[in-house]
Amino acid sequence: MKPEGKSNSTQEIEDLIRARYPLIYIVSSEEERVESELEKIVVDRRNRKLIVWSITEGFFSRGGGEVYPDYDQPLKALNFILSYEDDCVFVLRDFHPYLQAPEVTRRLRDLSRALKSKRKNIILLSSVFRCPGEIEKDLSVVDFAVPDRPTIGTIIDSFMGHIGDDTPSLVRDDPKFRDRVIEAALGLTADEIENVFAKSWIRMRDFHIPTILNEKRHIIRKSGILEYYESDYDITDIGGLEALKEWLRKRENAFYPEARRYGLPLPKGILLLGIPGCGKSLTAKSIGALYKMPLLRLDMGKVMGGIVGSSEENMRKVINTAEAVAPSILWMDELEKGLSGSASSGVSDGGTTARVFGTFITWLQEKDQPVFVIATANDVSQLPPELLRKGRFDEIFFVDLPTAAEREEIIKIHLRRKGRSPEYFDVPKIVAAMSAFSGSEIEQAIVSAMYDVYDEYRGEKDIDTESIIQSAQEIIPLSYTMKEKIDALREWAKTRARRASEAASHDDDSSVVRRLEL
Ligand code: ATP
Repeated sequence: MKPEGKSNSTQEIEDLIRARYPLIYIVSSEEERVESELEKIVVDRRNRKLIVWSITEGFFSRGGGEVYPDYDQPLKALNFILSYEDDCVFVLRDFHPYLQAPEVTRRLRDLSRALKSKRKNIILLSSVFRCPGEIEKDLSVVDFAVPDRPTIGTIIDSFMGHIGDDTPSLVRDDPKFRDRVIEAALGLTADEIENVFAKSWIRMRDFHIPTILNEKRHIIRKSGILEYYESDYDITDIGGLEALKEWLRKRENAFYPEARRYGLPLPKGILLLGIPGCGKSLTAKSIGALYKMPLLRLDMGKVMGGIVGSSEENMRKVINTAEAVAPSILWMDELEKGLSGSASSGVSDGGTTARVFGTFITWLQEKDQPVFVIATANDVSQLPPELLRKGRFDEIFFVDLPTAAEREEIIKIHLRRKGRSPEYFDVPKIVAAMSAFSGSEIEQAIVSAMYDVYDEYRGEKDIDTESIIQSAQEIIPLSYTMKEKIDALREWAKTRARRASEAASHDDDSSVVRRLEL
């Protein structure tokens, strides 16, 4: 099965140049790859000049010939473009810092008007998108995609060309291995791919998937906002939540072109709302293994935490990275933390939160890449209502406290995870002692019983039913201290969300009170 690929940004740039868009902003850290693609579009296919500018070298034409080192100052450079006679595409490398100067932005806007009637275009090429609001409307922004599958295939071929035709390699002998190498390299720039191929060749004398994946993890981590999340959880580690698990299982094969041909829409994502400690994050951690896709964890607080203006850039980066490694899962943890200001943000932060949120919502609604979003939140009142509207997420699930049957499953899961066999315990008795417990409190009770027994018997005796019940009795469940909040959440969810668990009602509230009265 071949998942769907990335749209072609080279084509997009060519269309903009042909349609005489005067100002184009290309966001990419791959200067050489972008400029050589531009050379193909402009010089080879259209027989026009391509002149590059940088603050250190002034103007020089790619392919040699013209050199104008004296026009190294930004304003002078723009005046030069205005007076230049021939049809030409100008590339301004790293011009974004100079857009802060009013005379530069003004001149650029003059140029935007003047160039409309000429066959001249200006391309701003930077690894980040930074641009004052007054010029933004005059620009067409293209996020230059990192290499897609066919391009990575070409990089592999040229790498093998350098290694030598008679050198054995699994990529030559095994097409499936070749596909896996390509998949592992998705999301890296051409330079990064070449470097990691060289590194894995030196280490293993062949392409080595763990080395490539490791590099990718480092690079994604370096972005500072996304984390390439590795988890050893799978769906069998979740107790209860049957309706949610079934929903997820049914979509396991829906990310591939075969499913599109069948007529299925691409799954967009889900929002999990609910009581803390009941398995929302655990579900997110398990989906990577279920869907066999990379899981990227996004901290919304970090997206919004930067200086004003860079939050938008952060959101763009997140979307680009998730699409570059697609099919992928984007896990947005504690969504409310980042978005809570969006309703009032016009006042509080100059509209940044609202704009970032707008970018996210539009992407969520319109995305055509197989990126599955799983968002988790504890507090609905902090979420902007637009997010909860139909069409944003495929489904909103409400994750409630586990029922007695679910608690039984959760207890068994945690006993097994701690290397204990549930048959040696009176599980129904433990279930009864843990009424109104969340999954996390159940785990906590088992772990603290282990500490107590280990401390007392130093390995001479193991935990048993009684010791677990005893440590359970020392825990006051959050559901008691948060009773009002939980009731309000349940009430809200009744009409607006689907239950993650199949159970229709909860049996526990009265027993919390009973327990506390004892
Ligand atoms: P929060 O909103 O506080 O992050 P959450 O709903 O995301 O809460 P999790 O992080 O998923 O809660 O749960 C914490 C831990 O509790 C899990 O790592 C797991 O060990 C245990 N746990 C919670 N729910 C379940 C469950 N349904 N099955 C098994 N274990 C569970």
